[in-house]
Amino acid sequence: MRLSSLEAALPLVETRALRSALLSSVPGIAHGLTRRIPGMGRADGNVGYGPPRDKEDAWEMRQAWASVVGVDPARLATAGQVHGNAVLRVRSDDAGVGARPDSGRVGLGDALISNEAGPVLFSLHADCLPLLLVDPGDHRRGPAIAAVHAGWRGTVADVAGETVRAMQSAFGSRPEELLAYIGPAIGACCYEVGSDVAEAWQAAAPWGTQALSRDGGGLAFDLVRANATQLERVGLLPHRIEQAGVCTSCSGGAWFSHRSQGPTTGRFAAIITLEV
Ligand SMILES: [Zn+2]
Repeated sequence: MRLSSLEAALPLVETRALRSALLSSVPGIAHGLTRRIPGMGRADGNVGYGPPRDKEDAWEMRQAWASVVGVDPARLATAGQVHGNAVLRVRSDDAGVGARPDSGRVGLGDALISNEAGPVLFSLHADCLPLLLVDPGDHRRGPAIAAVHAGWRGTVADVAGETVRAMQSAFGSRPEELLAYIGPAIGACCYEVGSDVAEAWQAAAPWGTQALSRDGGGLAFDLVRANATQLERVGLLPHRIEQAGVCTSCSGGAWFSHRSQGPTTGRFAAIITLEV
């Protein structure tokens, strides 16, 4: 790595990783979200590798952000995100899979879960909702974590609920003990959707009409409300679900937004790990 570039980037990100107060209350877990910072690196702090993005720059940005969050960038574990509801269990051997450019992927799926120290779960976002989950564990079982990517398709497929169920069966997690953080995502203020999206949601979640609203002539979909409700329906307690309350699309460019900046914009990351 060109140290000059990393050194130049560090002051910009020093205090800028977003953290959840709720998740920060659990010892032994490091987490944080990267964001968009104009002038950081060659693409405003982008950490995504997909074309047309500059992979070497994105790897440098991953390293810069990792040092801020307090995790080892060489141990990042990422999946190929496909807007589905598959949940991938990440093992200690997976640490580093997908960290550097062209270093593979854990699998195809939008939810990563783990109860092993070592791998740093890393999901990529540009409007799609980032969800981090923590099972603090108890005297019988250790802690467990999850990182989830939920756009409208994943939400319709209940990727949040599937992740909680997977943590129950894999780790013995109890939903009422889980802590959740819903990070910045496109808000209903900016997320006008077509009737295809509205109908898919209504068919999948007949109870979820509150996540749809009429805004002028169009329909708006509230990803945050939809996912928070899905978490409650699978047993999470409302006071254990923290919401960032930030819209990626109208927050003044502090986040990458597919809707407001176009498909070639960068990606920010949600990061979580069990500390070694
Ligand atoms: Zn907005």
